[in-house]
Amino acid sequence: MFSLRDHPLLIQKSGRYLSVVIMLFRFFSGELYAADNDAYAHYDVRVSSALNSMQVQLCFADEVPAALSTVSDVAHRALEQLSINGKSVSARYRTRQKIYLPELAPGQCLQYRVNLSVAMTERSVPKAASHESDEILLRVSSWLWLPDVDSPAKLITLTFELPEGFNVSVPWRPIQSGADSRSFELGSSPADWPSLMAIGRFYRENISLADATLRLAVLGRLPVSGQTKIRDWIEHGAGSIMNIYGRFPLSSAQVLVVPTGKYDEPVPWGQVLRGGAPAIQLFVDASRPYEQFIQDWTLVHELAHFLHPNLGMGGSWLSEGLATYYQNIAQARAGTISALRAWQKLHNGFQRGIKETKKGRTLAYEALHMSDSHHYMRVYWSGAAIALLADFSLREKGQSLDEVLSRFQQCCLRPYRYWSSREFMHTLDDLSRTTVFSELYKEHVTSDQFPDLGSVYQQLGLQVKNGKLSFNKDANADRIRRQIMSAH
Ligand SMILES: [Zn+2]
Repeated sequence: MFSLRDHPLLIQKSGRYLSVVIMLFRFFSGELYAADNDAYAHYDVRVSSALNSMQVQLCFADEVPAALSTVSDVAHRALEQLSINGKSVSARYRTRQKIYLPELAPGQCLQYRVNLSVAMTERSVPKAASHESDEILLRVSSWLWLPDVDSPAKLITLTFELPEGFNVSVPWRPIQSGADSRSFELGSSPADWPSLMAIGRFYRENISLADATLRLAVLGRLPVSGQTKIRDWIEHGAGSIMNIYGRFPLSSAQVLVVPTGKYDEPVPWGQVLRGGAPAIQLFVDASRPYEQFIQDWTLVHELAHFLHPNLGMGGSWLSEGLATYYQNIAQARAGTISALRAWQKLHNGFQRGIKETKKGRTLAYEALHMSDSHHYMRVYWSGAAIALLADFSLREKGQSLDEVLSRFQQCCLRPYRYWSSREFMHTLDDLSRTTVFSELYKEHVTSDQFPDLGSVYQQLGLQVKNGKLSFNKDANADRIRRQIMSAH
């Protein structure tokens, strides 16, 4: 993780340095590199100033894997000049998705060059990628060949060497704090979880929350006023999420903002990717005023996805349901929208979900097939309705969905594995010492009906006339209605 030249004290600090032969160093293009003291493997990545290539050196400590792998379709074409200690690796040791390493001995290093123009052609990298000549957006998988390891817990580190004035935005946890950290721990998420990164002359800032750091990068060379606007918007959105259980769900996250040019809304789309670590990307029309950004729900929705683990496509009704439920609640609690407006938005959404609910199509089926069927409203809003039912039921028992998710964050929100929706809901049952979640699961996931909210509406004092929602002051559970939209 460190170059010895920059950190000579490391050698003295570590008494076991000489006996534990893991501090590897090599002369490489005139530079001295070193593997991390405790790392199983370390990458040094030098980015060319023309942003057309990267020189990668990968060193292993005392163990060498049988092969390196990629899940990318372009990584093998982007890979050039593969060598071990300067000696070219025979083509017979390479396939499209593997590099076999019979010739690599412990303590040796492997080098390769990445053709970035090829790497950027990886499928599903957003087109905004190449707007500016001095910044690029690419999938990590398009160039990072990862060791095949039995134990996912092995520490792998990576250090970038960047041209003057360049920044990097990656999902991985920085080894040192500070906005300009160039060394990272790769984490151990499954290799097929996607992630995006950016390199170039863009705006980078760390936004400090109470216990968390958002590592913001804004591409597109915005003027300072535009950068400030985006920064403030992200901080506001994070503050809204902190209203759910009093803190941000993660200790650190990459937030990558990519301007897309003129659009009819401030945030045409956003997404959460979990490769390396959970991260969000937001694609924006940066010319829109601050107030429109604040009113837009996309950021709050994406940040709300940090409340739950990776539930895969099968669990999308639950992940999208939670994010959709909380996007409205978090905005109301932050004062961005009124409580009545939040209930109206929830109601409108439920109606859209009801409209898309088709006989014979269960929620489980629709969740798995929504990218083909486009029945997103059915999936998202059924999940949001289930979240409301769970929250109501818990609050009747003196608990809340906020509290249960908070407990989940403390005990179990680890970023590196899939959870099935059933397992997640069982865990939430355990954490609340109820059967609220498993009962809702049983009732709704294999049902072709939209969850019935009639009784909950009535108890919450939500009445609807001609599609317009109002509060019934006589309701016996209006206390719960107010609690749901109030910050703690
Ligand atoms: Zn979502």
